[in-house]
Amino acid sequence: MTISENLFSIKKRIDSALLRAGRKGEDVKLIAVTKTMSVDKISETLSCGVHVFGENKVQELVDKYPKLAGEIEWHLIGHLQTNKVKYIADKVSMIHSVDSVKLAQEIDKRFGAIKKVIDILVEVNIDREESKHGVDPNSVMEFINSINTYENLKICGLMTVAPMAENPEDARIYFKRMKEIFEDIKKSNIDNIDMKYLSMGMTNDFETAIEEGANIIRIGSGIFGPRNY
Ligand SMILES: *Cc1c(COP(=O)(O)O)cnc(C)c1O
Repeated sequence: MTISENLFSIKKRIDSALLRAGRKGEDVKLIAVTKTMSVDKISETLSCGVHVFGENKVQELVDKYPKLAGEIEWHLIGHLQTNKVKYIADKVSMIHSVDSVKLAQEIDKRFGAIKKVIDILVEVNIDREESKHGVDPNSVMEFINSINTYENLKICGLMTVAPMAENPEDARIYFKRMKEIFEDIKKSNIDNIDMKYLSMGMTNDFETAIEEGANIIRIGSGIFGPRNY
């Protein structure tokens, strides 16, 4: 399958999932996840009409960034170390993985230095898996209340990575819980936040995520084919 064929089939599956969820016509942002993928493949995807790309690692983003031209936007979706924020401040339009006050503080400082307000999502460790990053699901409100005063970041939603499972149905309870937390925070009218994005769903579980309310999905292998590490 070519990238163009993969995209065609993913778009059809997004539309069907929206239809099943009674969300026909709503917008779901598709982010093409480029980790380990070559610049040629990214270029090809760009020419198929995808404009937003997600990288996990700062180093890969920094390497690829200057090699791609045109209407392209980068999101940092993987764990971000505080000491690496400075390398991406002029390159990304959203950070999906904010999960500590220290990181929020550094983002505020580095983006402030270039006079840019960056959209951020709070990463939630929805299954409380010890090896995973993210804020505890019971502490999301408290966390948001502790970072909403920074002027150079705009909190605009939540992100999660559901546990790996053979069956995407297994992820449904986690996506449901994310949507509940998302709606609770939205209702609570915290200052300086704009809860509009729920970033969840990857190649194996994006349809379930959309059925449960995702409006950003992050797809890698489903677009580019299997990764070779
Ligand atoms: C790799 C990755 C994805 C995409 O994974 P696929 O299963 O290849 O679609 C999405 N989000 C994050 C945070 C990732 O690390």
